[in-house]
Amino acid sequence: MYLRKFFCALVTILFALNSLLPAFAHGGGRSTQTPASIPADAPRDEKLWKKALEIHRKAIVVDTHNDILSMMTDDNYDLGVSSVGKYHTDIARMKQGGLTAEFFSVYIDRSYARDGGSARRTLDMIDYVYRAAERYPNDLMMSYSTADIRRAKKQRKIAALMGIEGGHAIEDSLMALREFYRLGVRYMTLTHNNTNNWADSCCDTAKHNGLSDFGKDVIREMNRIGMLVDVSHVSDKTMSDVLETSTAPVIASHSSARALGDRPRNIPDDLLRRFAKNGGVVMVNFYPGFIDKNVIAAAKERDARLKPQLDQLKETFKDNPRQLEAETNKLLAANPLPTTPLSVLIDHFDHIAKVAGIDHVGIGSDFDGVPSLPIGMEDISKLANITYELLKRGYSEKDVKKILGDNFMRAFAEVERVAQASRTRLSGDGNVRRINADKK
Ligand SMILES: [Zn+2]
Repeated sequence: MYLRKFFCALVTILFALNSLLPAFAHGGGRSTQTPASIPADAPRDEKLWKKALEIHRKAIVVDTHNDILSMMTDDNYDLGVSSVGKYHTDIARMKQGGLTAEFFSVYIDRSYARDGGSARRTLDMIDYVYRAAERYPNDLMMSYSTADIRRAKKQRKIAALMGIEGGHAIEDSLMALREFYRLGVRYMTLTHNNTNNWADSCCDTAKHNGLSDFGKDVIREMNRIGMLVDVSHVSDKTMSDVLETSTAPVIASHSSARALGDRPRNIPDDLLRRFAKNGGVVMVNFYPGFIDKNVIAAAKERDARLKPQLDQLKETFKDNPRQLEAETNKLLAANPLPTTPLSVLIDHFDHIAKVAGIDHVGIGSDFDGVPSLPIGMEDISKLANITYELLKRGYSEKDVKKILGDNFMRAFAEVERVAQASRTRLSGDGNVRRINADKK
């Protein structure tokens, strides 16, 4: 199941898939100490490391995008059981990483948009988060607000929150959107790599020139009820429309800087600057295939080189997606991409802090949604390495804390405030089909 999510991306953007093997070769096997160590190839400044751990322990540390919920749902993976060497996330390693709050990504594959059942899939995945929290009440705390996150921190628990990935989940119904909010969903990524009925994706045919009129209604309703609007995966024009429409801060739950990693799902500088105006936060995605220009170039070259073989596999296994996935991975693993040093990841935090401002950058790991990670960030136990590296670059304690979680908390609190102020505005029934019919 692990790769199912990438597989759609693989079909459209083949080089997004990196070799599995290097990732798992250092997939957390060394992370039994609390918390994680910095990479072996960099001699550690022990005094600075101690300071980093102190700051990290006190800080509110928020990760806005983790895909482990897909494995929990599809493989009945129990988050309390160690998955070292298999997945990037389990409860023990979340604690080692000093994590305060995790957003479990309720990822709805584009196939549900095609075949139906998006909302039902969303409900099923939400249930898995609740049951994990029920099973581990001393470790996880279902959380719905900034106040809940702070409470979880005090109780030394991990705040469990949910974000929907793929706006087709609401099946074009503002009623469904509100129901998902009531069930605890606190952000929605407007699209995945598929354009839906009301918003264009980064990586699909544009049909609406950004957001449709109904798409704008979705944004206004999210503002009204207090759900964060997430623009990861959307097209630049959609992002621009969202930043214009939203009256509350917007997030990119797992996106990086396009100036350093030229991929359509990353954010260009002009739009980064608009996050500053909006009060929003761009949460940096860790995946080498998005952030490392050497990996991006090598992947392009590799995909061109392997195209005949990949096409052949697609033809041979066209009726057997599992086998196609396995064979494709085997071929890619035999042609590995370069590894990525941690500094490349830190460069993205740096760049966004410079262009958008220190108040507008945060963490959106994409753990368990990507097949490889930078050296020193192999799994969720390693988060303190970000604190150490930022200190090494001269960031102050206050600024490090902003990146770790304070920026997100400020934006989330503002979203809550905007919703509170809108309480008197009642909602309409909000069905896109009826709305479009009325307009005709
Ligand atoms: Zn994603």
